[in-house]
Amino acid sequence: MTHSSIKLSKTDDVIFSENIFDLSLEQQDMITNELSSDTVTSMLERCPQYEKFYSSFGNLREGVSHCPKIPTTTFKLADIKSSDCGVIEKWCLSSGTSGLQSRIPRNRLTLDRLLGSVRSSLQLLREWHEHELKIIHLGPDNESAGDVWFPFVMGLTELLYPTASVMDSSGAIHLSTAIEEINDALATTNLHVGIIGPPFAFLQLCKFAHQNNIVIKGLDRITTVTGGGWKRLSGDMIPQVQFREMICHYLGLNSVSQVRDAFNQVELNTLIIECEHHRKHVPPWLYVQTLSPSDLQPLGDNQLGLLGYIDSSCDSYPGIIISDDIGIVSRGRCDCGRYGVFMEIVRRVERGFQGGCALALDRPRVTEGEIRFV
Ligand SMILES: [Zn+2]
Repeated sequence: MTHSSIKLSKTDDVIFSENIFDLSLEQQDMITNELSSDTVTSMLERCPQYEKFYSSFGNLREGVSHCPKIPTTTFKLADIKSSDCGVIEKWCLSSGTSGLQSRIPRNRLTLDRLLGSVRSSLQLLREWHEHELKIIHLGPDNESAGDVWFPFVMGLTELLYPTASVMDSSGAIHLSTAIEEINDALATTNLHVGIIGPPFAFLQLCKFAHQNNIVIKGLDRITTVTGGGWKRLSGDMIPQVQFREMICHYLGLNSVSQVRDAFNQVELNTLIIECEHHRKHVPPWLYVQTLSPSDLQPLGDNQLGLLGYIDSSCDSYPGIIISDDIGIVSRGRCDCGRYGVFMEIVRRVERGFQGGCALALDRPRVTEGEIRFV
């Protein structure tokens, strides 16, 4: 057995196991340390672009917290993949509306693990069998989502539960159809109703219900999950607490704990979902840390910094990255009773940020497929 095949089976055991969020913090830490360290070793062997990038840092301190991570901007400039990953089934594109898009190569194994991560994260909502949940997706179906990332991830629920997608190929959300689907499921079935989509789609749904005096009595039978952020509609952005209350009101929910948010970006292969106390629990195959924006040195828990990741679910490319999100990582016991590592996105990096996070983020250069900083 080769080194990488040992790693694959360990990673898959974790991703496809049940109740991963119920492990103790020590167990989760042990898994995270082992998988992320194996992932770095494996990518050094399997991805020459990452190996050269890593080596360009010279003598390094040991450990995953110090290992060089690729700024996500780099994926806009070069196709970075592991050399032995076989067929790339999907080149996934970031949903960016201006400028270059990140292009991420995913093989079958990486896509299967992404689906495993969606399934696993949904356990933070509640455990449903296939016949107990109906999903209404305020986005395109999986096929129409094409290569654009967040609609594609959301559309993956189609593979797990019966899903009605109410966005047509022109990008229009059919709000009256969404309302019909919701009310029909509540009135004629015993199913729990999951409503998923980007925040602006929920805003449209609530406005539509308000303007047309539509009453929905979701009580405890609806759970909503937003994802993908506000993007170019940031002018419409509503503070999170107010946003939850709005959804709770218009869908007639018993509690704001039924309103959840999820996080992902195209360079990450893992979906991170909020628990009922609105904390984003990080699954143990994903190492997350914060780094100082000025010199990229690792910061401790509860310190604001650039979010860095080692995603062990990535097989066809190195998911060893620094994002351009500023956030906080913490750990311990959540009010929901689960132990774990939690992350919070605070804001995007402001370009020209004092101290020059541009060190890494604005100035990666790719020459003949090699990643360099200047
Ligand atoms: Zn929690």
